[in-house]
Amino acid sequence: MTSNTCANGWCHQSFEVTDEDLVFFSKVSPVFGGKKYAVPPPTLCPNCRQQKRLAWRNERSLHKRACDLTGKSIVSLYSTDAAFTVYAQDVWWGDSWDALSFGRDIDLNRPFFEQFAELMKIVPHMGMFISHGENSDYCPYSTDYKDSYMCISGRKGENIYYSFMLNDSRDCMDCYACPQSELCYECVNCVHVYNTIHCIECKNSNDLAFCMNCESCQNCIGCYGLRQQKFHVFNKSVSEEEYHRLNLELRISSSALQEFKKKALAFFLGFPRRNAQMINTEHSSGDYLVNCSNAYCCFLSEDLQDCAYVWNTPHSKDCADINYSSKTQLIYNAMSNVNSYACIGCMGSWDMKNSLYCFQSFYSSDLFGCIGLKHKKYCILNKEYTKEDYETLVPKIIDMMQKNGEWGEFFPLQLSPFAYNESIAHEFFPLSKVQAEELGLSWEEHVESVSGTTKTIPADRLPDSIRDIPDDIVNWGIQCETTGRIFRIVAQELRFYRERNVPVPHLHPHERHRKRLRFINPRKLWDRECAKCQKPISTSYAPERREIVYCERCYLETVY
Ligand SMILES: [Zn+2]
Ligand SMILES: [Zn+2]
Repeated sequence: MTSNTCANGWCHQSFEVTDEDLVFFSKVSPVFGGKKYAVPPPTLCPNCRQQKRLAWRNERSLHKRACDLTGKSIVSLYSTDAAFTVYAQDVWWGDSWDALSFGRDIDLNRPFFEQFAELMKIVPHMGMFISHGENSDYCPYSTDYKDSYMCISGRKGENIYYSFMLNDSRDCMDCYACPQSELCYECVNCVHVYNTIHCIECKNSNDLAFCMNCESCQNCIGCYGLRQQKFHVFNKSVSEEEYHRLNLELRISSSALQEFKKKALAFFLGFPRRNAQMINTEHSSGDYLVNCSNAYCCFLSEDLQDCAYVWNTPHSKDCADINYSSKTQLIYNAMSNVNSYACIGCMGSWDMKNSLYCFQSFYSSDLFGCIGLKHKKYCILNKEYTKEDYETLVPKIIDMMQKNGEWGEFFPLQLSPFAYNESIAHEFFPLSKVQAEELGLSWEEHVESVSGTTKTIPADRLPDSIRDIPDDIVNWGIQCETTGRIFRIVAQELRFYRERNVPVPHLHPHERHRKRLRFINPRKLWDRECAKCQKPISTSYAPERREIVYCERCYLETVY
């Protein structure tokens, strides 16, 4: 194990490169003509590496613009001002253009990343990633969604609004990572819950409000860590009448709801938290892992084997530094890769093999520095070669990249196609506009384009109870209490709030998302001691946090 210092001027964190890391780098190093081109250990700490990759994913800054080929109006991840050619998704996948026509020679006397940036400027980008959506144009990275809006990264859902990763769910609003759920509102990391509001980490339950870590419960309010209970308030048994009275009372106004939430969160602080949520997982560190083995510093994934620094990437083996991917093997430094094998530095690509530094390329193998290719082999900067020429030229490019420090590194932060504050890097590693500009990163000024409203009203002037909200609210612009941004309530939303009997939100949808992220621990680990037995633990709860954190054993003894 060696201790290194992050090469980022503003960071200088020390980080370790372990013997396991070195074994991985050797495994992932490509071989040409019998010679292995060793991938060197990283120069940046894991956090700075994450930040660079996350800058390539824009989830919620969506724009109406024209497809640059057909002129048709589309919803896109790219604004009209983006310095790229952008095609509608179906046009991008069609035969009316040829990505190879943009092919060019590699110049062995100029940095590779510079030449890749030039290619990015001319090859059309896919404006949006949606697979099999129906009336769900504003749901990037989603699959099989119906009648949904601003629903990101989920698989299979119907009538879902302003939510993230809701798989096999329906009729939910403002939720984060709640699979198999229905009629839920403002829930985070819940599984298989029904008619539930403002809950965190609850499972197999229904009719809960403001509960945390409850399982197989119903009709509970403000409870923590209960199992198989009914009609409880703040962990005490109450009469059915008392439960119903309180359930109505706390929904009476937006301020009542917020007050109750504060009270519940303060109550939860008195209970111990588990250092990490792991199910059937061995020799691993991280959080929210299921069926993993030898997963180091990994988060929100299942079925990982021999992986490190992996988030949201299920069913993968021998991978490191990869996010938002699935079914990958021998992948390093990547984002949004699906069903891929032996690739380094690929983004937004799937069904790829033996490829290096590619973007939006699919069903291909042996590509280097390519953009927008489908069903291709042996290409460099979108130019096709024979197998022999490809295998002669790529080692020369790697030699050049080794000399100028590019080889094995991820693309520079400045090369991301999205403004920093549009990307999810800003969610996890926020920067001010000034800081971003000092680093040479672009910044998107949010220009509100709420049209067709009859009036604009500050959120704190909205009627307090949902019963007093007129139908006409769908024609109003509402000014967010925190950010001042204008947002609208659409008819489906209003119906949802009325049916769930909750006040209309006073915050812009992006601000609601940002507030929910408070309940998601950072994708970082700290060494601490169990608050009960003092055994060393690794946890995503930072040492200065107020929660009481127990090791797995002490936690299970306490809760069950
Ligand atoms: Zn760093
Ligand atoms: Zn303990």
